[in-house]
Amino acid sequence: MKNTQINVPWLVRIKAGALQRLGLYLARSRLTPAALFYSEGMLPSILDGALQSLRDNGISPALLREVKEASAEEAVRLLSALPSSCRAMIGIGGGRALDVAKYTAFLAGLPYFAAPTSLSNDGFCSPQASLTVEGKRRSLLTGPPEAVVVDLAICQRAPLPLWHSGVGDLCSKFTAISDWKLAFHRRGDPVNDLAALISDASVFQFMANPASDEEGVRLLATALMLSGVAMEIAGSSRPASGSEHLISHALDMTRARPRLHGLQTGMAAYLVSSLQGGSHHEKIGELLARTGFWESIRKQPFSKEEWRIAVERAPSVKEDFYTILSERDAWPQFATMIAHDQALIGCFE
Ligand SMILES: [Zn+2]
Repeated sequence: MKNTQINVPWLVRIKAGALQRLGLYLARSRLTPAALFYSEGMLPSILDGALQSLRDNGISPALLREVKEASAEEAVRLLSALPSSCRAMIGIGGGRALDVAKYTAFLAGLPYFAAPTSLSNDGFCSPQASLTVEGKRRSLLTGPPEAVVVDLAICQRAPLPLWHSGVGDLCSKFTAISDWKLAFHRRGDPVNDLAALISDASVFQFMANPASDEEGVRLLATALMLSGVAMEIAGSSRPASGSEHLISHALDMTRARPRLHGLQTGMAAYLVSSLQGGSHHEKIGELLARTGFWESIRKQPFSKEEWRIAVERAPSVKEDFYTILSERDAWPQFATMIAHDQALIGCFE
């Protein structure tokens, strides 16, 4: 499979204080005025800092909106409120606001600046927006952002479970690539080697310093960003999403209130990697232990029954998507692990 065109971010700023320079980045890029969408309930000091940086550079937002709903309908509503003078779109905050901003930018044909304030998943740089359409969650193609601005000082202050969620989403790259290669061997699904390599390498870079200090946050941000880039290069979500994401999607359908995405995919990656063989299971286990991931799970354990239902549903969640779960009933092995694996003690109830 050959991509005819690959879009990747051309401005990447991953450093402490980056959000205070947002106005400067926009002014230098000559992309003013810009609309700014931000997460509901975001710390006022974060928004104030971004707005001050715009003012310092003589920019006033073309439209300033708080995003309350992660739906395509909300994006269309915001699109109709965009002034025609608007030259770019900025999303600041968590997944919801970023996905709406990304999709609105795509609909308007505007360059999009993604400024995540936490690193809970790899969505901020992915070429898709996860939004509901008439109440049903969908992944809508958008292309990746033109610019990624990650303020490490802000991300470092985000609650610990969000950080663990980002680590969990990163672990899924191991199992996703293994599933992708399996689909190639079994059915000839094309694998893009560069995308697989980028995805794989980004996890190893983070593993060199999996701490929640500034360097660790920088490595996690970079790795999650490169995961989005790998998806764009592959022209599919395969480098970042395999059987572990199927289980997470099935859990979202099963549970009344879904948990953080990466807490689900991280746990699922640990379980699935035990079926896949090779050294990934050990590596994922080590990474989750070193980052304290299990502690976040134990604070609010998963329901074993919900996981049983989700694991059984997972192979049929996505049409024509071959993974290790297409080959066998995984639950008996997972149930044994949940009962006996030392790392999983207290993670399920
Ligand atoms: Zn994910």
